Amino acid sequence: MSRPLLYLDVDGPLNPYAAQPQRRPEGYSTHRMKPEGWVAQHPGTPRAYVKPLRVWLNPEHGRRLRSLGELYDLVWATTWGREANLFIAPVLGLPELPVVTWPAPWGTEPDGTFWKTRGLVEHADGRPFAWVDDEIGPADRAFVAAHHDGAALLHRVDPRLGLRDGDFGVLEAFARAIV
Ligand SMILES: [Mg+2]
Repeated sequence: MSRPLLYLDVDGPLNPYAAQPQRRPEGYSTHRMKPEGWVAQHPGTPRAYVKPLRVWLNPEHGRRLRSLGELYDLVWATTWGREANLFIAPVLGLPELPVVTWPAPWGTEPDGTFWKTRGLVEHADGRPFAWVDDEIGPADRAFVAAHHDGAALLHRVDPRLGLRDGDFGVLEAFARAIV
C-alpha cells in the first residue's frame, strides 16, 4: 500500500491572501517576496520596479505539516512552482519538497475544472491523495471521481482564513482511514 500524497497550494491555504488587507491574521508573519513567477505577472516593468508580493505565513503550519509528513508524501501544487522551495519552505521550516508542474497555461478548462486538477490526477497516477486548495469546486470533485481510482480528499480552504486546526484534523483523519 503506497503512502498518500498531500498536494499543497500556497496562496489560500498557507498564505490567506484574501484576509483583511490592513490586519495581519493572528499567528502569521509578514514577508515581502519577489519570486520570478510574480515578476512575470508584470510584463514591461523592470524587475527592480516590481513591488514585492506581500505573503503571510504561519510557522505553526510548518510544524503541523512536518507532522503530517509522517502520514503523507508532501508535494507542492502551486503557481509558485519550484520557487515554493526557495521562498516558502525555509520560512515554514519544511524540507525541499517535490513539485508538480503543469504544461498547460493557467485557466479554467472547457469542462469547468480548475487548471490544476487534470495534472494532479495524472501525477497521482492512482495513488491516494489529499489536496488542499482555495479553488476546488464541484467540477473538480466530479473529475477526480471519474478519473482517479484511489482514495482522494479534495479539501477546500477559505483564502480569508488559511489552514486551521480543523483542516489539519481532517487531513490526519483521511490518511489514517486509508492505511
Ligand atoms: Mg490558491
